[in-house]
Amino acid sequence: MQTPTQIKILTWYKTHGRLDLPWRTTDNPYHIYVSEVMLQQTQVKTVLERFYFPFLKKFPTLQDLAEAPLDAVLKMWEGLGYYNRAKNLHKTAEILTQEGQIRGVAPTLPSELEELIKLPGIGKNTAHAVATFAYKKPVPIMEANVKRILCRLHTLKTPTDKELWNIAYKLVDNINPFDYNQAMMDIGSSLCTPKNPHCTICPLSDICKGKEEPTLYPTKKKRMVPTREQHIMLHLYNDRLSLTQRKGKFLHGLWGFEDVEVPLCASEYIGEVTHAYTHFKLVCKVYVYDALEKEKDHYFTIENIRKLAISKVDEKIVKLYLDTM
Ligand code: SF4
Repeated sequence: MQTPTQIKILTWYKTHGRLDLPWRTTDNPYHIYVSEVMLQQTQVKTVLERFYFPFLKKFPTLQDLAEAPLDAVLKMWEGLGYYNRAKNLHKTAEILTQEGQIRGVAPTLPSELEELIKLPGIGKNTAHAVATFAYKKPVPIMEANVKRILCRLHTLKTPTDKELWNIAYKLVDNINPFDYNQAMMDIGSSLCTPKNPHCTICPLSDICKGKEEPTLYPTKKKRMVPTREQHIMLHLYNDRLSLTQRKGKFLHGLWGFEDVEVPLCASEYIGEVTHAYTHFKLVCKVYVYDALEKEKDHYFTIENIRKLAISKVDEKIVKLYLDTM
């Protein structure tokens, strides 16, 4: 049986929820999985307007994604950042497609948490989201908006993950977990906002212990973001710039400009670009070296660079180059 609060949450959702989001109106587990991965670090509006539909048009099924070269997947991910997400999507599609071939069935995502969590890039949060949104499993979800609600409901300033999951499991609506979980996200983003939450019209108000001073919960963490500096050398030859495909862990698989310890004496400094990552700020000082001979393996015209999968930082570097040359 549903509790009075669960009934209020569902009633609120039917009137105020974003029922028309495309990943809420499909029951295709692959589409839901793609949306969940995209939404991990990116706002709904951006995913909706720029990435979700083009990605699924290019790779309509898990098998299409598995059979595509990684370069093509990274290209479709360009602008979303956090490229490991795209690589893990691709790896997961490959694994599931292979499993499907062995069993003689079309590849699909598993529905059980224990199986989902074994796949590359699927952590506890994503596994719960896929299980409940794709398969209607009676499990809660955990994301920033939901965490804030849970903290305020129980006046928790610095809860552990375990505490939050325990509370979430106690609250989840076992009869209609799909709508309940979607509603919790919408309540978090539209009512239980970080500043000025709308407690008087919130369907959770009756059970909320923190509603008198909601902004006390949770405690905001002050983060010092370190700055990293790089010297980027643009090797220019015959109106073409040299790029190489990155092999290291960071931005692996993307094409990029050379990062050097010391700029070449004969190079010209053209300016700097900055980019904010989650854990650090990157400052790139950019130099151009106009070579008389071909010294690198791969040179590209600007037109061809635009067809490569490159990072946001390298896009900014291309823009700086075009603005200054
Ligand atoms: S009553 Fe206020 S603080 Fe509590 S969950 Fe609702 S909006 Fe958040």
